[in-house]
Amino acid sequence: MEPEGLHPDTLAVGFGYDPEDAYGAVKPPIVLSSTFAYPSAEAAKDVHRAYFDGPSPERDAPYIYARLDHPGLSLLQKRLAVLDGAEDAAAFASGMAAISATMFAHLKPGDSVLHTAPLYGGTHGLLHGPLAGLGIRPVAIADGLSRESVAAAAETALAHGPVGVIHVESPANPTAGIADIAMIAAFAGELAERQGRRPVVSVDNTFLGSLLQKPLEHGADLCITSLTKYAGGHSDLLGGCLTGSLERVGPVRMLRTLLGTHMDPFTSWLLLRSLETFPLRNGRANANAAAIAAFLRDHPMVAGVTYLGFLADGSPAKAVYDRQCAGAGSTFSFRIRGGEAEAFAMLDRLKVFRMAVSLGGTESLICHSATTTHYLVPPEIRREVGVDDSTLRISVGIEHPGDLIADLAQALAAVGTGAKSQTSAGS
Ligand SMILES: *Cc1c(COP(=O)(O)O)cnc(C)c1O
Repeated sequence: MEPEGLHPDTLAVGFGYDPEDAYGAVKPPIVLSSTFAYPSAEAAKDVHRAYFDGPSPERDAPYIYARLDHPGLSLLQKRLAVLDGAEDAAAFASGMAAISATMFAHLKPGDSVLHTAPLYGGTHGLLHGPLAGLGIRPVAIADGLSRESVAAAAETALAHGPVGVIHVESPANPTAGIADIAMIAAFAGELAERQGRRPVVSVDNTFLGSLLQKPLEHGADLCITSLTKYAGGHSDLLGGCLTGSLERVGPVRMLRTLLGTHMDPFTSWLLLRSLETFPLRNGRANANAAAIAAFLRDHPMVAGVTYLGFLADGSPAKAVYDRQCAGAGSTFSFRIRGGEAEAFAMLDRLKVFRMAVSLGGTESLICHSATTTHYLVPPEIRREVGVDDSTLRISVGIEHPGDLIADLAQALAAVGTGAKSQTSAGS
C-alpha cells in the first residue's frame, strides 16, 4: 500500500502491513521474542554493522534484540510516521519517555531551553529538575503568539548559553493557549545564524493529536505525542511517540536503546489496533465536545468555558488556530459559579462521567484541576495560567451526547439548588 492519495482513515487501518509476512494473517501477529536468530556468523556481523554505522541506518536493519527494535514496533512506527506526514518515527514506553529522550539527545550542559507556558507537569518537572541539575536552563516564553515575546525570552536564554531546544505545547493545558508554530520555527532559523546551530523545535501535540494538528507541516523539527491519550484512546495503555526527519529522530531512537524506554510488543499491538478506529473515535468525541461546550456556555451555573471552538473572531489566537488546527478537540475546561465546594458537590453527583485525570479515552472524564493535575503548582501561578478553585477539566468520550449532557445537567441542577438553600438559610 502506497500512502500517496490515501486518507488517514485508510492508512490507519492497513498501512505498512502485508499479510504475506505472517502466514496470510489479516492482522499483524504479536511477536514476543526478546531476541532474534542470525542466519550465519557473517550475517550477524553485517546486521550489527548496519545497526550501528552510518546516519541512523538501524531503521530498516534486521532485528537483533527487542530493546533495539522488534516487528510490532517497526510496523507501528511506520503507521505513526505516515499519519504525521513524517519521514521517520520512534515509539516509546510513555509520552514522558519520548519527551525526556528528546531533551537528553538534543541538549548539552550549558544550553538553554525556550518553552511555552504553562507546560505539562511532567515536562515542567523534567526541565526544572534533572535538566536544570545538568546546567541546562529553562526560559519561559510569555506569549507564544508574539515574535517579540519569543525574542525577549531568547535574549534571556542566550545570556546563559545557546538555545538547544525550543519546546512548544499548543494548545496548552488547561488554558487552551495557542502558540504560532510557524513563527517559532522561523525564529529558530534566525537563531541558527546567530549562534551557529539551529535549535531543535519540538512540539508536544498531545492535546489535539495527529488528526487535528500537524506541527511538522508548520516547520517543527519534531512532533511528540503521548499515545496514552487519543491514539491509544481506551485508557488502557501508556505510550509515546516522536516523529520528524531521520536526522532529528535518529539520535533520539539511539538513546532510547541505551535508556531502555522502547515500547513493548503487546502495547505496540494494542496501539495498532487502536489506530484503526482513531479517526472514528476522534470524529465522535469532537462532535460530542462541541455539543457539551455549547450546553455549558449557556448554563446559569457556569461562569465560563475555555474551548478552542469559542475563540473570538479577529483575535490573534483565532487567526493562528484557523491556520494551524483542523478542529477544537474534545478536552476543555470550564468554571463553575462558586469555588471548590460547588465544584466538589457537582463532581460527586455525576453518574456517567468518571472522575479521573488523563484524556482522550472512549469514556468521558472530569477532574478538578487545582487539587489534582495542578496540585503542585502554587496558587498565584495557578491563577496566572487560568486555573482557580472553580476550574473543572473534561475529556469528552464517545458515549451518546444526550446522556452526557443529561448527566451534567442533573449534577449542575443539584448544586444550583444547594447553593440557593444555603443562601436562604443564611439570610
Ligand atoms: C499525558 C501528557 C504527557 C505525558 O504522557 P505520558 O504518556 O503520560 O507519559 C505529555 N504531554 C501532555 C500534553 C500530556 O497530556
